[in-house]
Amino acid sequence: VLEIRNLHKSYGELEVIKGVDITAHRGDVVSLIGSSGSGKSTLLRCCNLLEDSQQGNILFKGEPISWHGTGLARRPADAKQVLRIRTNLSMVFQQFNLWAHMTILQNVMEAPVTVLRRDRDEAEAAARQYLDKVGIGDKCDVFPAQLSGGQQQRAAIARALCMEPEALLFDEPTSALDPELEQEVVKVIKDLAAEGRTMMIVTHDMKLAADVSDHVVFLHKGLIEEQGSPDEVFGNTQSERLRGFLSATR
Ligand code: ATP
Ligand code: MG
Repeated sequence: VLEIRNLHKSYGELEVIKGVDITAHRGDVVSLIGSSGSGKSTLLRCCNLLEDSQQGNILFKGEPISWHGTGLARRPADAKQVLRIRTNLSMVFQQFNLWAHMTILQNVMEAPVTVLRRDRDEAEAAARQYLDKVGIGDKCDVFPAQLSGGQQQRAAIARALCMEPEALLFDEPTSALDPELEQEVVKVIKDLAAEGRTMMIVTHDMKLAADVSDHVVFLHKGLIEEQGSPDEVFGNTQSERLRGFLSATR
């Protein structure tokens, strides 16, 4: 579904992705781990066209994600493609990004109605169903500020699911949460993995990465330092750097 080929990305002079290849087949869960600043968020943002890239390719269902122009004028090649990609690759952020002035139900049904032009009643029924699925079906009519962090993040996941995306991108979905609340969100992510959803997850939670991933990628300074199955990466670590990273996160 998602192929990243020899991707290079710079912010001005600073090259932060230096030639990365990652493939996520349908149903794969790929976890990205690595120290702060290693380029994990940048890589996800490139997949979702939130950032451009200077070299290499990202293919979504075989379709290259393309850019044109230079400097500040650099833009995704085609607005329809941006919409298609963002609809099909829903991103969940560390800071939930819910709209504070809308109820939870309105937050979840907003994009299906305004972006996908779904019928309101259908969108509402789907939104309620996804809110139930993440365990907050009783919170439809409250505002984000009235929810715990874990509940807000689950609402953000329901909002992503409501677009019926092909794949989900998670950027540290649990790192803004207290440990007890973190587990609620971990459970939702595990359920999604068990359903066979395609996901790319940036996480600092090695237990989550070990439990849900088909493939774990350790990024170091914009390059893949080590990758493999959770057993290989965590059980039979080759790289000295990864060993150091893992012992520091335990
Ligand atoms: P963390 O674990 O802290 O979230 P990360 O692996 O997600 O880190 P990125 O956010 O991808 O790292 O950042 C990679 C590098 O790119 C860092 O050196 C960062 O300072 C730089 N960077 C990120 N965003 C920008 C930006 N908008 N402009 C300039 N530099 C940036
Ligand atoms: Mg990050």
